[in-house]
Amino acid sequence: MKRISSELKGAKTIAISGHVRPDGDCVCSVMALYHYLKKELPEAKIDIYLEEPPAPLQILEGIEEIKSTFNTDEIYDVFFAMDCNDDRLGDALPIFRRARRRINIDHHISNTGCGDVNIVEPERSSTSELLYDLMEPALVDAEIAKAVYIGIAHDTGVFRYSNTSPHTMQIAAELLKFGFDFSKLIEETFYEKTYFQTQIMGRAILGSVRFMDDRCIVSMVSRRMMEFYCVGPKDLDGIVNLLQGVKGVECAIFMYEIGTLEYKVSMRSNGLVNVAQVAVKFGGGGHVRAAGCTMNGTYHDNINNLSKEIAEQLERAQTKEQE
Ligand code: 5GP
Ligand code: MN
Repeated sequence: MKRISSELKGAKTIAISGHVRPDGDCVCSVMALYHYLKKELPEAKIDIYLEEPPAPLQILEGIEEIKSTFNTDEIYDVFFAMDCNDDRLGDALPIFRRARRRINIDHHISNTGCGDVNIVEPERSSTSELLYDLMEPALVDAEIAKAVYIGIAHDTGVFRYSNTSPHTMQIAAELLKFGFDFSKLIEETFYEKTYFQTQIMGRAILGSVRFMDDRCIVSMVSRRMMEFYCVGPKDLDGIVNLLQGVKGVECAIFMYEIGTLEYKVSMRSNGLVNVAQVAVKFGGGGHVRAAGCTMNGTYHDNINNLSKEIAEQLERAQTKEQE
């Protein structure tokens, strides 16, 4: 592997992990790395520690190798933390801490680097894209290509968000040459929703409210609603993106209840607001246009606290515009 081959020399045991509530880019970069390392270091034992991936991603080959229980005393020679900082490794954190060598590969602007080696490049569309450039092209096969492609597609909203660069498209073009059915893969892993997922999405949109001169929009899903529609956190992806698409909206906020007075917050910006900065203020992180955090307090208190930060940024942006 480019840039880190010396770190891998002699490694006999390797662990790979990513963030809690893993998304497409996280799962795919983990799986692509797994398949790649198996080829580069065929003698090494490679274990994957990750929470259960979303159901549509279970089509990835080797996904059954993922260990979703983290009770091990093993001290790994190398630990790869993918698509996150150590604060989001969840139950894999003790394994990470024990490892002899830690490699952190990520593209989140809020990541300060938690490894002995940090390859953190915020200008990258995705961790999958960054990982692909570390791979020796000769070792990339169709399975690796497929995982990298899906990872990039998920984090770019299928090559639509502003994080999509000419280089992203060049990589995508190279990957397509492997001949997998990209259209079906994107449809089934990104767009397709179950009936209940679609229903709760509708419910969340119906309940959305605009504020701050209609420049912000917010919606919330309670635990009761999730129970009623028989859905969990994994089923709420995409809601915040729909809110973001409302004409005139600068910043979209979506929250779902994870415990008593505890909410998981997702934010999206259409350019003027740096939501990573807002999320970091509340202990979270992410990207300039897509970020999240966990907040304690009532729904309304949380909105008030977020609004204050967002309003300040909007005001600053407005003043700049007028100058
Ligand atoms: P989403 O809103 O889709 O859950 O996340 C948007 C982006 O922010 C993703 O890149 C995700 O990894 C990041 N993110 C979401 N929640 C958190 C959080 O609690 N902490 C950190 N550091 N990043 C988060
Ligand atoms: Mn990512």
